[in-house]
Amino acid sequence: MANKHIARKRFGQNFLIDETVISRIVSVIAPKFDDNLLEIGPGQGAMTLLLLECVKILNVIEIDRDLIDFLKGFNKDNLVIHEGDALKFDLNTLPTPIRVVGNLPYNISSPILFHLLENRDKVVDMTFMLQKEVVERMVAGNGSKIYGRLSVMIQAFFEVELIFIVPPESFEPAPKVDSAIAYLKPLPKTAVRNMSIFQKIVKVSFAQRRKTLRNCLKSHLTQAQTAIDLSQRAEMLAVQDFITLANDYENINEK
Ligand code: SAM
Repeated sequence: MANKHIARKRFGQNFLIDETVISRIVSVIAPKFDDNLLEIGPGQGAMTLLLLECVKILNVIEIDRDLIDFLKGFNKDNLVIHEGDALKFDLNTLPTPIRVVGNLPYNISSPILFHLLENRDKVVDMTFMLQKEVVERMVAGNGSKIYGRLSVMIQAFFEVELIFIVPPESFEPAPKVDSAIAYLKPLPKTAVRNMSIFQKIVKVSFAQRRKTLRNCLKSHLTQAQTAIDLSQRAEMLAVQDFITLANDYENINEK
């Protein structure tokens, strides 16, 4: 880039500058030559350049036109640049199965995760940099104060792990909070039968965390309609219990 790129807040731009962290992320990804790798938000190519050395073809999706021009300047034959919004990107246009990676723009990390959740049948695994607090919520178990909607929605469909924490100084500009690398792998099978019902039950259950499920779910299910003990609060329920609740709710509404 002739002039230094000024990071755009609206695109959640915090560029990785710590070479050790960048190499560590790439070794967590451990790309193989034939992997169908998709990088979301390559930015100025911090991870991209290393990834390009490992794979036959690297697909990237970037929204910022200035950065797209910058990436084109790499003149790499194995780099395929998709210009646009990752939230609207159709994964069916890529060869599958896909491995998705990226230092995600924090302002839209949850919608990106949900977009990929809908497309998980095409995905082998995902390695993402996210706010540490978001990763902690993703991996939290029941009984924990931070266990909530995100934990249940993610764990119903993925095996998820916090791999390592990355401090603000590893980025330019430095974010205000710590970040973390999350590794997600779709479960071979999920017991969720109906995604929208499951989403609704999980949302309603956590809408008032301090209330019992009997209270939260009163317009959906009664104790007589499920074996799950509704005198508990949502944060005590295991992921499988939410799946049972959603399936019980669906059974009643099918009748
Ligand atoms: N990967 C680079 C790095 O680690 O230095 C940049 C990471 S920065 C946190 C997020 C990147 O995602 C930026 O390049 C930003 O322009 C891009 N981005 C933001 N919103 C996007 C969207 N909706 N679709 C695709 N890329 C997006």
